[in-house]
Amino acid sequence: MISSHFKEHIAQELGTPILKIKAVSGGDISKAYCVFTSTQRFFLKVNESANALKMFLTEKDGLEIISNTKTIKAPEVRHCGKYESVSYLLMEFIESKNPTSKEFETLGHQLASLHAFAVGDSFGWNQDNYIGSLPQSNKNHKDWALFYVRERLLPQLKWANEKRLLTSLEIPSETKLIKGCERFFPKVRPALLHGDLWGGNYLIDSHGVPYLIDPAVYFGHHEVDLAMTQLFGGFSSNFYAAYAEKIPAEPFQKERRDIYQLYYLLVHLNLFGSSYYRSVKGLLLRYFK
Ligand code: ADP
Repeated sequence: MISSHFKEHIAQELGTPILKIKAVSGGDISKAYCVFTSTQRFFLKVNESANALKMFLTEKDGLEIISNTKTIKAPEVRHCGKYESVSYLLMEFIESKNPTSKEFETLGHQLASLHAFAVGDSFGWNQDNYIGSLPQSNKNHKDWALFYVRERLLPQLKWANEKRLLTSLEIPSETKLIKGCERFFPKVRPALLHGDLWGGNYLIDSHGVPYLIDPAVYFGHHEVDLAMTQLFGGFSSNFYAAYAEKIPAEPFQKERRDIYQLYYLLVHLNLFGSSYYRSVKGLLLRYFK
């Protein structure tokens, strides 16, 4: 529930009275609302947990770095802050619709442009962020396999072990993990990634313009975003064909897709429990025995 004081605070941030605030469904982590003023609508996420402000600040920075590339849109952030115990993120409201094949094509082209245009000089980012509600380390590395093992796979494997979702014997050593990755990793350029690109994290607006939302950005291998799009589906063949026109597939993409999906499956194992165990275990045995 949004209190009248909080509503007044948001109105002051916007510099205009609020006509109404309506709950929006779909948020996994935070409560989401549509804020109506006399001329515009805004999207408001609120969360009372202890790390919520930090989570929203990194989300804001992620949306802004994507938007600043001018390759693909992200909602414009209006404000991020805390009012009493409530952290919030206020942004442009995107009126969305189901994508047509043509719009999927545009999404594919624009995501490839993001990956091709926005390149860094090492893997990671200038700050840590979150994947879902779990912390994600973005410590910089010059070597992609080392980054992927130390900052992605190992922290999740350790959490799974602490939560008794994987035994110590089921967790490969760092050396095995690095060797397994190096077998299939090509020379990689650090590309700016959305970082959590499942089917719920893009919107197509009413004019057919794609937007990325809810990112977990860092500089990494562009195929990580593709691997996430393929984990739960929701992207059409037009999307992949358009992407490949700009960034063609390289050998061993299927193996890398598995290895990149392993990270997201571990995140799901840690967030949602043992129903993800079999998929995780299968990939660990296939690539890191
Ligand atoms: P959470 O981080 O809690 O999962 P999301 O950022 O994914 O929340 O937002 C929840 C849902 O709200 C999304 O799936 C999407 O449908 C909708 N949504 C997100 N951002 C916007 C926006 N800027 N404008 C309109 N709807 C949005």
